[in-house]
Amino acid sequence: MKKTNSQLLIIVLLLALGPIVSLGQKKSNEQADNLRTSPKLVVGIVVDQMRYDYLTRFWNHYGDGGFKRLVNDGFNCKNNHFNYAPTSTGPGHASIYTGTTPATHGIIGNDWYDKEIDEDVYCAADDNYASVGTTSDAGKMSPHRMNVTTITDELRLHTQMRGKTIAISMKDRSAVLPGGHTANAAYWFYGADKGNMITSTFYMQNLPKWVKDFNASGNVEKYKKPWTTLKDINSYLESGLDNTSYEGLFSGETAPTFPHDLPKLFKENGEYDLLKTTPYGNSIIADFAIEALKGENLGADAFTDFLAVSFSSTDYVGHKYGVNSKEIQDTYIRLDVDLERLFKALDKKVGKGKYTVFLTADHGAIDVPSYLKDQKIPAGYIEFDSLKPKFGEFLKYKFGTIDIIKNFSNYQFFLDHDIVKNLDMQLVDVQNIIAKELLGYEGIDRVYTGHQMWQNEYTEGIPYILQNGYNQKRSGDILLVLKPGVISYPKTGSTHGSPQIYDTHVPLLFYGKGIKKGKTTARTEIEDITPTLAALLGIAYPNGTTGSPIAEVFD
Ligand code: ZN
Ligand code: ZN
Ligand code: ZN
Repeated sequence: MKKTNSQLLIIVLLLALGPIVSLGQKKSNEQADNLRTSPKLVVGIVVDQMRYDYLTRFWNHYGDGGFKRLVNDGFNCKNNHFNYAPTSTGPGHASIYTGTTPATHGIIGNDWYDKEIDEDVYCAADDNYASVGTTSDAGKMSPHRMNVTTITDELRLHTQMRGKTIAISMKDRSAVLPGGHTANAAYWFYGADKGNMITSTFYMQNLPKWVKDFNASGNVEKYKKPWTTLKDINSYLESGLDNTSYEGLFSGETAPTFPHDLPKLFKENGEYDLLKTTPYGNSIIADFAIEALKGENLGADAFTDFLAVSFSSTDYVGHKYGVNSKEIQDTYIRLDVDLERLFKALDKKVGKGKYTVFLTADHGAIDVPSYLKDQKIPAGYIEFDSLKPKFGEFLKYKFGTIDIIKNFSNYQFFLDHDIVKNLDMQLVDVQNIIAKELLGYEGIDRVYTGHQMWQNEYTEGIPYILQNGYNQKRSGDILLVLKPGVISYPKTGSTHGSPQIYDTHVPLLFYGKGIKKGKTTARTEIEDITPTLAALLGIAYPNGTTGSPIAEVFD
């Protein structure tokens, strides 16, 4: 049929207007996107004790699908820091997921002295609940000491509890705290003679079938094998010698060298608990996380789910062998392979581009001070027990009793406030007198008082970091800071906990839906992670949030 002129005119007009009409639609879609990016699944990955320079030092050994995938195709916050002390695992995981610091969330250590009940407490312990999946007490956990909500809680609230939260780790606290108060489940590893994933009645009365199946599968058995290096050890040029005096030993080993004969060492080193201090512990967690994708059907419906995974073996290996060991290098090279496996499973199960990942650490670590000393770098050790006689004499002389010190933990002294009252002295004066004395002790660099923490608003430097870690209801009366390079620890292996930069500087990588490719060297802080995710998801910030969204990461 021959088209009339007017019909042609309409066609021409439609063709001309087409792009304008579709542009308008695109614009309104973009506006909706700006309001809310909805990945099917958010995957939070915490690598326990990962220093930022583990990304750069071992870079050439990493494959394209693990750390490199996040760095090359995601956003790298190169100058990301903990902004509080103590830099330890419980506070670290709580801060990452609450968007605030111990001053607000209340997790002031892994363990601390509870002033109100006059007892030592563990951050995740809760005797009101029973173990699930073990006859031991290892499951009696809950997040009840964490005073605020987590990003995982807010996602649950936002989706009317239709988005799921599953939290997984070797360590109980590294699953319980990230899961928040409303997690569908948190699972952690019980070693001993079992090697099972377990939980608490806080979450459920019985393990789901997929967890029972995982435990019954014998999967963990395949890691009861010698720990050899993944690649030729001679290619590990980015670490020290394999056999040094800076490394610890497994019971029954005579040298800290590869191969570590795990089957032979098994009985003498806590049986399945031995696997924690090897890279195979991370592989077990990766295996379990991949099973969780299927078992919990994560990322399958319209409601964003959250999978919180924390790899702990990096920490155990670091504590035993140190930052510069061949063992730590192999552990990161193997973790990279485990990450690649996890990302491939996510691509398959949830779909490429449909999930968002962040990766960070719960604290860094110091190079072994005895090694640093041998390189002429100022470093060393402080033995608090050896200070006791001198400190005790001082306390008796000044206050008539050593009992004025009620507790020492997390580098803080807690005073007995009743004794102080009976002395007819002001608390602030007692704090100051003790602080001045302690400053004179070898290895102690700075001393602050609880009074200073109450009275000031610090905005930078070490006092700012201490104040962010200082919870008025829970923290102590006198706060110690050791000299840079000085730790209270055995002479082998690395540790953490200080406000120093080697403990605060950790990776922060974002990747996937809603995230642009890029990098920044602008300072970001650990409390910024959660508000960044909240902004991405378009949901409410956790109720204690003190951080701010990192605007550069958004697509
Ligand atoms: Zn840790
Ligand atoms: Zn070694
Ligand atoms: Zn540690």
